[in-house]
Amino acid sequence: AERLVKTFDVSAPWLSRVIERKPRQLLQAVNDISFTVPAGGCLSIVGESGCGKSTVARLVTGLHRPSGGELRFAPGRNGAPLSVQMIFQDPYASLNPRWRVKNIVAEPLREMKLLKTSVEITERVEELLETVGLSASDGEKYPHEFSGGQRQRISIARALASEPEFLVCDEPTSALDVSVQAQVLNLMRKLQDELGLTYLFISHDMSVVRHMSDRIAVMYLGRIVEEGDTEELFANPRHPYTRLLLQTIPNVQQPNRDRVVGGGEVPSPLKPPSGCTFHPRCPVAIGRCSAEVPEVRTLSGGTRVACHLVEEQVAHAAR
Ligand code: SF4
Ligand code: MG
Repeated sequence: AERLVKTFDVSAPWLSRVIERKPRQLLQAVNDISFTVPAGGCLSIVGESGCGKSTVARLVTGLHRPSGGELRFAPGRNGAPLSVQMIFQDPYASLNPRWRVKNIVAEPLREMKLLKTSVEITERVEELLETVGLSASDGEKYPHEFSGGQRQRISIARALASEPEFLVCDEPTSALDVSVQAQVLNLMRKLQDELGLTYLFISHDMSVVRHMSDRIAVMYLGRIVEEGDTEELFANPRHPYTRLLLQTIPNVQQPNRDRVVGGGEVPSPLKPPSGCTFHPRCPVAIGRCSAEVPEVRTLSGGTRVACHLVEEQVAHAAR
């Protein structure tokens, strides 16, 4: 059967911006973003903090409205609007500390009136807890009685209660210890297979992303600079920023390798550099980089890249 492909297209003409006002006055902007999430698969968005990853997640789930431009997405199953749920980085902050876990997980069931009787709700909550590797009796406890990894399991159970087809996960494991991280990620993969879920996965951690995704979109300062198949992107990274990100993966030889991406920080989205916004940090910038914004080009093999140098190399190779 043909695989359904969902396309998300966040486009903001006239360079108008979608601005997110965060508690500490941090502003994040996204511009002309478009990406494709394979149904039943996982697209990851990667980049350093401040690149606009969370803004995209919030736009897709409807937690934010674009302040300019528009947000378009292809319909979900049977042409109905896509049913989306979100999993956040900090499971504790998103779970009401005064509620028993069974009520936290039951809330979407009650709200959406999916089940009629309280017996049905109780049974479904127990089933959901078991689905995420907890026990039915855990429903009687409060969030503080669980470890970080277990709390993230509770948020996943709650997200699954409304039977979504699409889960947006914003750094779901970055607050967890590495060993617990792997368990939660494996659970998420298993649920994906069993329930046919589609994931949009947000992370700054390239090794996590490699484990989880079929496709990867690399974001820098509110734009996607490279998007492609996971294996292809790791084997043959094209954009200079993607190459820098890949160097941040710790390896056996250099376990304590500096995790800060080569020199400098992400500039303020309020005052983006001219031309290619990566040019002040780019080790291979050429003359036009500070003047002209690179367009997104699709290369043979399907990878999309926005870089003058890559474009010139491709043109040169074709000659
Ligand atoms: Fe570097 Fe220029 Fe490519 Fe930007 S467009 S990533 S500055 S080479
Ligand atoms: Mg974030």
